[in-house]
Amino acid sequence: MDQQGQVVALLDATGSFFETARTAFPGAEEADWARASLLDPGAAGPEGTWVLDFRCFAIARPGGRWVLVDAGVGPAASPAAAWAPVPGRLPAALAEAGIDRARVEAVVLTHLHEDHAGWTSGAAGEPYFPAARYVVQRAEVAALERADPVWDWTVAPLRAAGQLHEVEGTHRLFPGITLLPTPGHTPGHQSVLVEQGDGARDVLVTGDVLVHAVQLADPAIPYSHERDRAAARASREALLARAVERNALLGTAHLTRAFVEPGQDAPPVRRPLDGGVGPAG
Ligand SMILES: [Zn+2]
Repeated sequence: MDQQGQVVALLDATGSFFETARTAFPGAEEADWARASLLDPGAAGPEGTWVLDFRCFAIARPGGRWVLVDAGVGPAASPAAAWAPVPGRLPAALAEAGIDRARVEAVVLTHLHEDHAGWTSGAAGEPYFPAARYVVQRAEVAALERADPVWDWTVAPLRAAGQLHEVEGTHRLFPGITLLPTPGHTPGHQSVLVEQGDGARDVLVTGDVLVHAVQLADPAIPYSHERDRAAARASREALLARAVERNALLGTAHLTRAFVEPGQDAPPVRRPLDGGVGPAG
């Protein structure tokens, strides 16, 4: 089991993306791909495919309680079925980690894309974590269209059950667990800072601020499915800088390694601005 202190990585699914890596990350150069393949070799599939994990994190709390960050691709009937490898195996991953879903007191949703909201509901449409409040940024709910399948799968049933908790901005969920707005991928995207004592390193759970190691090679590289590229880049650069500053590990949703260093062994190749001259070589 992959674990850093109180933070446990839970793998829901692994699969190939519906676009090639080079389509998903326009503008990445050979040096970026070379560095990415060193940082996360597992992501490079055959014929240019992007192999990605769909991961959640559980954070241990006093008294045997847990906070979950993100809810994976979900059961067979979840909205992610349109493109992601459902059903996910989160129920088995929770059992392996000794986590009873009735002891999950909060589920933080980094954003409302279908591959992060899958296990908000179980097979029968009931809230999968019966005692949890589900915590999402207000701006994320406000930006979600009613026609989006995640509305009926996640927002509507959780609201009806009184389990949807909308927060605004930086939010201290529990001591040592802080939600940080990181907009761009979606309007109300958030990441999670876990501050740990006892010699364990802090962990920054990124959500989709960072979806591929090529964005560690150069955080300026956009992802083709970001709602606002400039905002996403600013959030990514700020989050990585924060992680470096406090010597935190990154907890990633989609890299094939759960915990990665925010820094890198070689300096990034900077994107030339406005036709500027790029680096030699
Ligand atoms: Zn995602």
